[in-house]
Amino acid sequence: MEWGGSEVAGAVVLKPGRQKPVLNRHPWVFSGAIGRLQGSPAAGDTVIVADSEGKPLACGAYSGRSQIRVRIWTWNPDEAVGADFFRERLGCSFQRRGELRAANHTTAYRLVNAESDLLPGVVVDRYGGYLVVQFLTAGAERWRQEILDALVELEKPGGIYERSDVDVRRKEGLRLAKGPVWGREPPDIVEILEYARRFLVDIKHGQKTGLYLDQRQNRRAVARYAAEREILNCFCYTGGFSVYSGAAGARRIVNVDSSADALALARRNMALNGLKMDDDEYIEGNVFQVLRGYRDQGRAFDLVVLDPPKFASSRAQVDAATRGYKDINLVAMQVLRPGGILVTFSCSGLVSPDLFQKVVFGASVDAGRDAQILERLSQASDHPVLLSFPESEYLKGLICRVL
Ligand code: SAH
Repeated sequence: MEWGGSEVAGAVVLKPGRQKPVLNRHPWVFSGAIGRLQGSPAAGDTVIVADSEGKPLACGAYSGRSQIRVRIWTWNPDEAVGADFFRERLGCSFQRRGELRAANHTTAYRLVNAESDLLPGVVVDRYGGYLVVQFLTAGAERWRQEILDALVELEKPGGIYERSDVDVRRKEGLRLAKGPVWGREPPDIVEILEYARRFLVDIKHGQKTGLYLDQRQNRRAVARYAAEREILNCFCYTGGFSVYSGAAGARRIVNVDSSADALALARRNMALNGLKMDDDEYIEGNVFQVLRGYRDQGRAFDLVVLDPPKFASSRAQVDAATRGYKDINLVAMQVLRPGGILVTFSCSGLVSPDLFQKVVFGASVDAGRDAQILERLSQASDHPVLLSFPESEYLKGLICRVL
């Protein structure tokens, strides 16, 4: 069997009537849509996806362990999957970051956002002179050397560090992996610029690949409301929203996170930007409890940021997640002064923007506070949403005035 003039390891033949998503360029083929398998492909091997009559529609990476049995690389029958393919796809993705790359105010951004940059399972972030890569799927893992070679050739980084220490790899039957994979090993702390603000990033031990790059534009949006305000930054991580708020003239900032390491970097990031304010606070604790404590003490704020981790990773968790979101939003409204600003996020892809808005509405009803939506927020443009792949939209936020 061949695709684009290259030998492939097999084919999955879809059940009758199951070709529509493939024709609409959705990149995933679920096991339930597959009628039969031809050949015996290993994890990550390239296979053809054919309709029930055997007509080839696409080719992609096979993953026998995952419910997502094939992730499509290409629909183009003339395009073979190999070193040239990855160099081409990566190069196009890098070009799409042109504006961010040309601006000298930002040196940390996502170069490749997996499926939504037409490279399923491949994530590449730049932090100054270093690249951080994630190979999230069997297909991405299969081509890791070709991908690394192309990164070196096209981007000429000082070094490449791997952060494939993410749970989704287990669903693909892959071990978690992390460490330097090419060139110089990054130092423990790398300094980057984001809209000319300075941030220290721990590439090796930090969350995600070191920074929540997807919040870049939202951090800037929040700064517009921060002047003269007393701010409570919940789930602050390394102080992203605090640095922007401090630079915009916030009166005082209380940072809350469960990670002592993150808080330590938040403190250093404030100082690095000349924003060391004596009565700022750094509270190591559980936001659910800390917020209740403030409410019970009658402590009040002018602006509250809620940027929690993902509460729902599967459909079964959506109900519990919405209860969690409602809980923190309710208590956050209770600690806001009249006319205060609530900036609230959910990064659970399974909680739709519509459902999230309903949850915040429910919180406002229970808090007995009218609230107005001033702005709707989404993920930064280097984390694009591919229209044919709505699953790539996950981050949503609301800026509300709570009356
Ligand atoms: N707003 C941040 C990113 C937040 S990520 C930024 O702009 O960079 C979510 C953060 O929540 C992580 O730092 C994690 O350590 C923290 N966290 C997770 N569960 C928590 C809890 N129950 N209480 C407090 N912090 C928590």
